[in-house]
Amino acid sequence: MRNFEVAIIGGGVVGCAIARELSKYDVRVVVFEAGSDVASGASKANSGVIHSGINSPPSSLKAILCVEGNKMFPLLSEELSFPVKWTGKFVIAKNEEEVDELERLMETGIKNGVENLEIKEGDEVKKLEPNISCFSALWIPTAGITSPYEFTIALAENAVENGVSFLLETEVNGLNKKNDIFSIKTNRGEFKADIVINASGLNCRKIVSMVEEPDFDIYPCRGEYLVLDKNYRYLINSMIYPVPVKEMGVLGVHLTPTIEGNILIGPSAEFIEDSSDISTTRKMMKQLFHEAKEILPSLPEKGVINAYSGIRCKISSAGEGLADFRIEESRNFRHMINLIGIESPGLTASPAIAKRVVGMISNIIDLREKRDFKVRKRKKRFSEMSVEEKSIMIEKDKRWGRIVCRCENVTEVEIIEALSNILGAKTLSAVKYRCRAGMGRCQGGFCTQHIVRIMEKNFGMKIKDIKLKSPNSYMFCGKTREENE
Ligand SMILES: Cc1cc2nc3c(=O)[nH]c(=O)nc-3n(C[C@H](O)[C@H](O)[C@H](O)COP(=O)(O)OP(=O)(O)OC[C@H]3O[C@@H](n4cnc5c(N)ncnc54)[C@H](O)[C@@H]3O)c2cc1C
Repeated sequence: MRNFEVAIIGGGVVGCAIARELSKYDVRVVVFEAGSDVASGASKANSGVIHSGINSPPSSLKAILCVEGNKMFPLLSEELSFPVKWTGKFVIAKNEEEVDELERLMETGIKNGVENLEIKEGDEVKKLEPNISCFSALWIPTAGITSPYEFTIALAENAVENGVSFLLETEVNGLNKKNDIFSIKTNRGEFKADIVINASGLNCRKIVSMVEEPDFDIYPCRGEYLVLDKNYRYLINSMIYPVPVKEMGVLGVHLTPTIEGNILIGPSAEFIEDSSDISTTRKMMKQLFHEAKEILPSLPEKGVINAYSGIRCKISSAGEGLADFRIEESRNFRHMINLIGIESPGLTASPAIAKRVVGMISNIIDLREKRDFKVRKRKKRFSEMSVEEKSIMIEKDKRWGRIVCRCENVTEVEIIEALSNILGAKTLSAVKYRCRAGMGRCQGGFCTQHIVRIMEKNFGMKIKDIKLKSPNSYMFCGKTREENE
């Protein structure tokens, strides 16, 4: 049994942001993550938008933490070496009736402290976004984009560099408290901690119910996306949103450029029973494409290369609109902090949520700042290097010249480095989210077999143990034919 001062349940962006913030202090911290890598839940499957804060009611936690979080990204991206682009965002009014809604959003934004908002006429918008037709649009220059999984991985890796323990494939399945100490039961044994942070996303109710009767329900709401090939990156320059769908408490199907140059179409909003059902459906794919074409008529159907979905952790049902974030101590168990209903803008707000939670922890234990806190530097990718830089690398090590993923130009060295990550994540997705192998046009059709060979040869992994992304996602369950056939 191992003892920690703080135990965090969940290695999504929120749990990792808290872990990283805590790693600035002399405190023993552990993160339990049920998945095979961090960012196994909503934190990898979202729009990747750094919201400005125009959508949440003034004085709500969502508004305050979103605006605060947004402002923290420039420094964070420098300290952690993950990408951020301040593309700005248009919310478009398709007709005169929708203009009132733009004005309402602008008013909310101003009250929330969002700067430089401006309503532009349709022809002004056309100059900046030639492929978009609208009556007028609200321009929000402080909205940006990031890579949500790269951000989460960066937070987690930096936390580990600064002494936090991460236990992957470790699911918390029981919680108790005796003499002020929590016993945390997991599939890998029991642990002890003085403070427990419940950052388990969609499972937050399940964790609360281990200690008391929850006073809230979870209404999982699936959002499906389509991914457009990078060849169509020229279609938009900034994010393009419709006016929000108020009854559903969502922002509506939008077009979002990604850091890598793809365009995301989505997300849909569909309340579902099973919070683990991340399937994508033909019906929704058609609907998304149809809605996106209303905003961007030149959208090419053949440009869609992939689809995925993420599940919103809503604590209000369909028709109830927006509920606020809840960040609070358990009613019965002091020193257990629950993060409840952390839906959008949870990615944006995560660094501010982390500061708030660490503030709450500092009221419980004495937090002394470390002198030797380290920041993180990511190496330049092969695809980002100049021809001269590439030649120097290949001269030093021939494996820099062996391209494993042709679509994204990822070399053998980069695959090996991705698999040597400090968190110990060793799935095909862990490779994909660290170096982009398998994320291009062919979606891993070419490189998967080569990555599997590297896993076998360089890491001694057995073929039958190789997983796609989660604890039971074994890729190779038997032979299709015998070798001597
Ligand atoms: C479709 C969609 C679009 C969105 N778009 C945006 C956006 O553009 N901008 C924005 O700011 N926000 C956005 N969000 C919201 C944002 O993605 C979430 O608020 C954020 O990712 C929540 O992070 P989290 O760490 O709380 O949860 P999660 O990422 O779900 O992490 C929880 C983790 O806990 C783990 N876990 C669960 N139970 C246990 C257990 N018993 N033991 C151990 N581990 C456990 C899970 O495996 C998971 O990894 C979007 C969300 C969705 C679904």
